[in-house]
Amino acid sequence: MCGIIGFIGKIKANEIVLDGLKHLEYRGYDSCGVSMITLSDIIVKKDVGKIDEVHARLNFLEPASNIIISHTRWATHGGITTYNAHPHLDCKKEITVVHNGIIENYKEIKKYLIEKGHKFKSETDTEVVPHLIEEEINKGKKFEEACASIIKKIRGSSALVIGKKGVEKIIGIKIGSPLVVGVSEFGNFIASDIPAFLKYTKNVIFVKDYEMVIASKDKVRVYEVLKNGRIKKVKKKVYTIDWNVEKAEKGSFQHFMIKEILEQVDAIKLASMQDREKLESFAENIKNYKNLFFLGAGSSYHASLVGKYLFSKIAKTTVVPILASEFIHYKDLINDESLIIAISQSGETYDVLEAVKFAKKVGAKILSIVNVNGSSLTWESDDYLLMNVGPEIGVAATKTYTAEIVILSLISYALSKRLEEGKKRLEYLQNIIYNLTAENRRKEIEGIARFLKDKKSIFVIGRGILYPTAMEGALKIKEISYIHAEAFAGGELKHGTLSLIEKGVPAIVLVDEETKDSILSNAHEIKTREGVIIGVSPFYNEIFDYFIKVPECGYENAVSHVIPLQLLSYYIAVSKGLDPDKPRNLAKSITVK
Ligand code: GLU
Repeated sequence: MCGIIGFIGKIKANEIVLDGLKHLEYRGYDSCGVSMITLSDIIVKKDVGKIDEVHARLNFLEPASNIIISHTRWATHGGITTYNAHPHLDCKKEITVVHNGIIENYKEIKKYLIEKGHKFKSETDTEVVPHLIEEEINKGKKFEEACASIIKKIRGSSALVIGKKGVEKIIGIKIGSPLVVGVSEFGNFIASDIPAFLKYTKNVIFVKDYEMVIASKDKVRVYEVLKNGRIKKVKKKVYTIDWNVEKAEKGSFQHFMIKEILEQVDAIKLASMQDREKLESFAENIKNYKNLFFLGAGSSYHASLVGKYLFSKIAKTTVVPILASEFIHYKDLINDESLIIAISQSGETYDVLEAVKFAKKVGAKILSIVNVNGSSLTWESDDYLLMNVGPEIGVAATKTYTAEIVILSLISYALSKRLEEGKKRLEYLQNIIYNLTAENRRKEIEGIARFLKDKKSIFVIGRGILYPTAMEGALKIKEISYIHAEAFAGGELKHGTLSLIEKGVPAIVLVDEETKDSILSNAHEIKTREGVIIGVSPFYNEIFDYFIKVPECGYENAVSHVIPLQLLSYYIAVSKGLDPDKPRNLAKSITVK
């Protein structure tokens, strides 16, 4: 995953790059580093730890430079050590590289380079890149040519930013991993994601795979690297994005996650603001295909399970949700009569993109629901709907999960020609969420979180639309509070899981009008075995040891019931002293296999 940012400009870049790097920390935080490039030198500072810690030790603000590339790492190849931290250098210390992705054939390249006499300092796959460029320069190529030539030599998915001593240019290469360019009056950025430079510019160039960006202090040129290694200039549009800077800042909040949980009132509104014609043509398209699939990973997969329920109830349409990483095992089902709706916050999720590329090859139609405009998924899709909720920085998805459900719900209503009804319901939902996230409600949940924080396991059960909601809640608890949490459909309890229930084991029971009788009877089965019941329900029941009241919202229960679960997971993490924005071993957009 990793975050990369490079800047070249007319002004000192240190503060700008450090600030940008911090905005990318959600992508990885094992180690970090910067290369300050001057006419006579490259100064590399890097170490293990989060950006603030490493900066406090090494001082990224010195020496001053107007050309800097930097990196925050989520290790894939090589342990979490200073040597493995990026940026990496070639033998002569003239070329410096930061990388996001995996170079699948790095072992054979490394062997070749060692035979040529290159000396390696790290165990990473990345380090082959500066040496490979050095080797090409040794053969007589110019810096730009040498960079372009490596595109056909490395396999896997990568985004790279490269600098060279004495050269007033930085080069970006995109092959499968995300890369965007920020254009401003005082200089140009090449980075993994827009929040890295949003504070400084809203002018963005989206880069496609197999494109190479050459940025100097007052110019950005983009080239397509052809199969024969030659480069062809591409004319690029500079988009002005309407993301709000505040959305990428924590402001007075302790963490991005709580800020983003509270932003869900807005998220419902923003995600509902879809162009009517586009939404209806999206729905019309669905009707033309025989087989319909949803594709997603993590929370987006859970949203697709909610979508399956909504499509079946509201639009009487059958859809098969498939986990993106499992998609290939169902490849025989996909053909030109298939329509895939791919769901991804970043639009860069490796598993989703791989599945989509395969489906396209066999003639399937691709529609997608995505938050980041200009991301790879938007290029790969025949059409897409944007979530419009601004950047989501917390690693745990909250507002984008809600936005995905909002859009799936609108599509279901459009399919059944009841779009107005759907919109009204979502308007009403905004008030509900506003009340559910009010300070007094948060305090209540904080209290229950203190009870749960030392538990070994937490079970979450639901039925109907509340089953995928339980799955999403359990995922939130696992990912940020490191407590084992397991979701299951209430009816499945007796088929195995009940054996795990003993005195004091907590079970969160999600209740709504549709499922109340059966789910409460499942709750009784737990209570009889002395489990502790936390009811998330529109009404009180004596079986509850703790009660979180949520209004009955019908189909929108998928959103209203998930809010207390997001808050619970947040407060459990905080009360354990964990950082919910940066859970261990995880990162935000999963651009690796
Ligand atoms: N493969 C590189 C490393 O391990 C980059 C990892 C990434 O993009 O997450 O350092």
